[in-house]
Amino acid sequence: GKGIAVFTSGGDSQGMNAAVRAVVRTGIYLGCKVYFIREGYQGMVDGGDNIIEADWSSVSSIIHMGGTVIGSARCMDFKERWGRLKAAENLVKRGITNIVAIGGDGTLTGADTFRAEYSGLLDELLSTGRITSDEREKNKFLNVCGLVGSIDNDFCGTDMTIGTASALRRIIEALDAISSTAYSHQRTFIMEVMGRHCGYLALLSAMASEADYVFIPEDPPNPNWPEKMCKKLKQEREMGKRLNIIILAEGAVDVEGQPITAEQVKKVVVDNLQQDTRITILGHVQRGGNSVAFDRVLGSRMGAEAVMALMEAEEGATPCLISLEGNQAVRLPLMECVKQTKGVAEAMKVKDWAKAIELRGRSFMR
Ligand code: ADP
Repeated sequence: GKGIAVFTSGGDSQGMNAAVRAVVRTGIYLGCKVYFIREGYQGMVDGGDNIIEADWSSVSSIIHMGGTVIGSARCMDFKERWGRLKAAENLVKRGITNIVAIGGDGTLTGADTFRAEYSGLLDELLSTGRITSDEREKNKFLNVCGLVGSIDNDFCGTDMTIGTASALRRIIEALDAISSTAYSHQRTFIMEVMGRHCGYLALLSAMASEADYVFIPEDPPNPNWPEKMCKKLKQEREMGKRLNIIILAEGAVDVEGQPITAEQVKKVVVDNLQQDTRITILGHVQRGGNSVAFDRVLGSRMGAEAVMALMEAEEGATPCLISLEGNQAVRLPLMECVKQTKGVAEAMKVKDWAKAIELRGRSFMR
């Protein structure tokens, strides 16, 4: 059978374990030899015990767990050619000719680079005697398939990234908890949620919690936002609402591209309305805890589809990304999605907000 390796890299997210489990089991079911690579690219570079063959039971009882049981890490070595050379050697020695990369745009870019230079890496390994010509021949091609694990839903080309639904669930739980105390004391709560470049979590949690105001990076507020926001908060109170909720994405900015901070928003509320105002920064709670059913199912579907895509691909085919499109698992060209995702960040950098929202495409709500 073919050799397949699966690894998780970059930020962790709930549902990654479900994806790893599905890759392992689908691979074994189809007669492949499946390997885990621990600690992302670092494990691929270091080899040894970091790359181990998986069996059916090694992924038992992990589907519900948050995070990633095989570990994730940032890896500087893999950004260097010598690091990728070592990684290639470790794959060849084990007969691994397929990889499933689970991570964000950095991880997927790295996987694409690796595949593109793979035959050059193998030539170098052969010429320096690190692999034999037989090994070179048997491992000529590397096939790559990417899955997006991210709580931010910040990736273009897919409706939902693995982990978003669980993070939203956590945010809503926290908002519900805060609402009951805010309600008792007629407070205003400012909740900062994750999303350095993406307002998806902020926007959806605002909708689901009847928030009064929301700040997201892709759509900075009009410069007179303090006035507008205060008017809205005041109106709500006058109509008898006992609490106000303001949601702020971590990466919220104004039209000049300057950050809007929770402290800044609080000062506006306190100075103008004298409301008792509290800030909650949710932080890593959003990544923690068990995954919701949606992410378990999403990870499972994406993982299984990744293996099938690899088995059906021509040797050395361009890398594909498994995306969710209208509730179907589909295969898209990986680098086009990565480029579009990077395009959003670039558009925001030059303050072209309309372009940023347009590029978000499927991953953003319309
Ligand atoms: P994410 O995958 O969540 O975007 P990072 O950007 O930190 O997270 O990328 C994760 C890892 O992927 C990095 O630590 C590095 O090992 C690898 N990586 C990222 N960008 C590249 C690149 N351009 N070339 C090679 N490897 C990369």
